[in-house]
Amino acid sequence: MFLLLSMCMCGLLLRGDAQDRAALWRGNDRSGRCQYTFTVPSPVEASCPQTGGPEVEGLKARLSLLEVLVSQLSGGDTGGPLGAGTRVQPELQEALNRAMGERNLLQGEKERLEGELEVLQRRMEEMRRETERLRNRPCPPQTPAVPPSQPLQNSGLTRPAVGSSLMSQLMTRPNSQGDSSSLRDSMWQYRSPSFQELKAEVTEVPAPDGSEDNTGCGELVSIGEPVTHRKADNIEGKYGVWMQDPEAVSPYGPNMVWRIDTIGSDVRKLFGYEDMEQLSKGFPSKVLLLPEPVESTGATVYRGSLYYQRRRSRTLIRYDLASESVAARRDLSHAGFHGQFPYSWGGYTDIDLSVDERGLWAVYSTNKAKGAIVISQLDPHSLEVKKSWETNIRKNSVANSFIVCGKLYTVASYTAPDTIINYMYDTETSQGKPVAIPFRNKYRYNSMIDYNLAQRKLFAWDNYYMVSYDLRLGRQQAN
Ligand code: CA
Repeated sequence: MFLLLSMCMCGLLLRGDAQDRAALWRGNDRSGRCQYTFTVPSPVEASCPQTGGPEVEGLKARLSLLEVLVSQLSGGDTGGPLGAGTRVQPELQEALNRAMGERNLLQGEKERLEGELEVLQRRMEEMRRETERLRNRPCPPQTPAVPPSQPLQNSGLTRPAVGSSLMSQLMTRPNSQGDSSSLRDSMWQYRSPSFQELKAEVTEVPAPDGSEDNTGCGELVSIGEPVTHRKADNIEGKYGVWMQDPEAVSPYGPNMVWRIDTIGSDVRKLFGYEDMEQLSKGFPSKVLLLPEPVESTGATVYRGSLYYQRRRSRTLIRYDLASESVAARRDLSHAGFHGQFPYSWGGYTDIDLSVDERGLWAVYSTNKAKGAIVISQLDPHSLEVKKSWETNIRKNSVANSFIVCGKLYTVASYTAPDTIINYMYDTETSQGKPVAIPFRNKYRYNSMIDYNLAQRKLFAWDNYYMVSYDLRLGRQQAN
C-alpha cells in the first residue's frame, strides 16, 4: 500500500514538472511528520473565490442575524441592549392584546346587562300600570254582574257577602281620573277567581275602630302602597316636588299636575302637565321659568298660585300661574333656611309649604324653637302668618312631614323601605302624640312628602320617582 502510494506520488511529481500549473508541496505538520500537499487547477473553473472573502463574510453576517432572530423567537437572551428592547416589545404587545380582549368582553357584558335592564324596566312599568289599573277599578258587583248563564256558585267566587254597602259605594264612584268607563268593563266578571278573592279580602278588612270613612276629616288610619307615576329623566330629578292645585284657576284645569326638579343651584323650571297620564308619558303642556330660584322641595300650588321659598332666604314667594309673575312675597319671620333646620335627609328642606282642607301651611323651625317644628297657617293672598304652633318634635329628627285636616304627621325615615308615621300633632287641640302607621319608601330616598288635597292622597318624590299613596282617614271625632 505504501509502495503504491509512493509510486503514485513519484508519478505525480514527475507530471508536476511537465505541467507548470500543477504543484506539490512538502513540509512537516504539527506532530513533525512529513506532509505532502498537491494542487492542480480545476478543468472547469477559471478562478476560485478565496476562503474568507466578501461572500462568506456576508453569509456569516446573515447567519448571525438568523441566530439572533431564532433566539428572540425562542425567548432566549441575546445579551445585548437591543435584545432587551426587543424582548420587552412582544410582552407589551401581548398585554395590549389581552387588554383589548378584556375590553371587548366587558363591552359585550355591558351591552348584555343594558339589554336585561331594559327588559326589566319594561316589565316593571307593565306591572306598575297593571297594579294601578287594578287599584283604580271598583270591585265587581255581586249577583247582577254575573250573566244568567254563569251563576255565582259556578264561577268559582267565594267572596263572603259582607261589606255590600261599601261595595256599592265603590261601584258608584269613578276612579281618580274621573273616568267611569271601567265600570262597564266586562273583563271583571271573568277575571281569575284567585285574584277576586284576594281583592275582596283586601277591600273588606274593617277599619281598626270601625269608623273608616274617606269623606271625613278624622285621624289618619293607614297609608297604602306607593304607586309610581313617573321617573325623572336625569340627575336634576333625583329630588323634586310635584303637586296639584285643589282649587285650580283658569287657564289651568283641575287635573293639571305641576313638577319641579330641584337638584341644582339655580332651580327655576316649573313643568305643567294636562293630567296624570301626560305626566306619566312625560309630555308637559307648559314650562314656566320662575323669576327667582327655588330652594328645595317645599313648594305647593293653591288657588292658581305657586308658593315657594326663594333660594338662600326665608322669603316666601307667591307666583301667579296665569299672569306668570310674582304676586306676593314675604319673609317668614325667624325661619331657618339653607340648611339651618332641614329634615333629617338634608337638602335645604328648611321651609315646607303645603295645602289641606284648612288652607295654606308652612312647616319650619326657628332659633327660638331650638330646632323644634313650628307650624304656621298663612294667608294665601298676602303670605302673612295667621297663627303658629310650636311642637316638641325636632325637625331634623324626622324625614319629612305632611298636614291632613289640620293635623301634622311626621315620617320616621326617608331611606328605610318599611318605616312609620311616628308622630301626629293636631293644630285644633294643640296636642301631639306618638303614632305608628306603616309607611313605605319604595325607592329608599324620599325627598318630598305632602298631602295632595285634590286627590286626597299623599304625593312623594322618592329617588327620581314620583309616587302617590292612598290614604284612609277616620271619621271626625266628636270632641
Ligand atoms: Ca312635606
